[in-house]
Amino acid sequence: MLSSVTSRALCDLSHVDLVAWCAAQGEPAYRAGQVRRWLFEKRAASFDDMADLPRALREALAAEFGEPLASRVVRHQVARDRTEKLLLELADGSTVECVLMREPKRRTVCISTQVGCAMGCVFCASGLLGVKRNLTAGEIIEQVLRADRLLDPGERLTNVVVMGIGEPLANLANLLPALETLASGGPQPRGGLGLSPRRFTVSTVGLPDKIREFAEVGHPYNLAVSLHAPNDRLRTDLVPVNKNIGIAAILDAADHYFEKTGRRVTYEYVLLGGINDGTRHANELAERLRGRHAHVNLIPMNAVAEMPFRDPTPERVRRFVEILEAAGVAATIRKRKGADIDAACGQLRLKSERQNGEPVAR
Ligand code: SAH
Repeated sequence: MLSSVTSRALCDLSHVDLVAWCAAQGEPAYRAGQVRRWLFEKRAASFDDMADLPRALREALAAEFGEPLASRVVRHQVARDRTEKLLLELADGSTVECVLMREPKRRTVCISTQVGCAMGCVFCASGLLGVKRNLTAGEIIEQVLRADRLLDPGERLTNVVVMGIGEPLANLANLLPALETLASGGPQPRGGLGLSPRRFTVSTVGLPDKIREFAEVGHPYNLAVSLHAPNDRLRTDLVPVNKNIGIAAILDAADHYFEKTGRRVTYEYVLLGGINDGTRHANELAERLRGRHAHVNLIPMNAVAEMPFRDPTPERVRRFVEILEAAGVAATIRKRKGADIDAACGQLRLKSERQNGEPVAR
């Protein structure tokens, strides 16, 4: 007998797809809404949990999709600050990470969009193994649902940040339907988490054409641009893809994003001790961002074992912020979360892939 090979994941079906699938089973359209409510709102762990569905439909769902969520949790780490990190195994054996972060009034999930990353930023663990493939919309959605299932029964996610492994705008075709699904919901839910687009932030290395495409979507998602340097010479050293792009084109595209969406753009800036954290860097950055609808998020470096970068000293961080603020550029320092569980950017996947002996592709 053939083992039951499941070819599709339920999360890869849109509401419309699921209505069509139900119709093919002889079931009315409203069943699709029921299934999606179980999946997104009631955190069903199995099709058997979907108590208001006829048994035959539950069996058909199990035969077609296996389990409601196709990914498998292969590691689950909980930090002292209750940040939780999941390593998920996908249908093809690839792994991705997602992180749940808790603050008094927020519960934020950080998700990945690719298996690995092609950008090669010199301080980031995600790119060390190169990129293998884009995640499907369903695989992006599943990370959010996996994190949601870690919450207490009465708790809901409040924010989604697309800042995990991969370059989100290099996978816009799958990211957009995933965001659309996650943001939908509301009083007549078709699934989704019912979160406003303003609760989503997409972080990009800065691909101008893709930023413009993202601006056309017509939803006020937040955009974060990983700048990391105030001039092209230094930026190209740290973010090699900058070579053929340049900061000016990125700032232009980001200004366009603000004009189209009304959302102030965040510029992320990883502070690398002794490299980009000096007063002249802060002054140059202030000069470039002055007068723009921008906000700078300074990220103290998360040490990655084999990388030669070190933390900036607290005095230099403070000085950097002071210079930006004196120039009228809003700046905040990102709080570090989950430091004791390799929560930064691809570190857990890197460790696990290395243990499994995957060759380094870069
Ligand atoms: N590719 C996207 C999203 C993933 S990285 C991007 O470049 O924005 C999310 C953020 O974490 C980026 O700003 C990235 O530069 C930063 N980051 C990567 N490695 C880091 C490290 N070791 N310490 C601190 N921040 C890091």
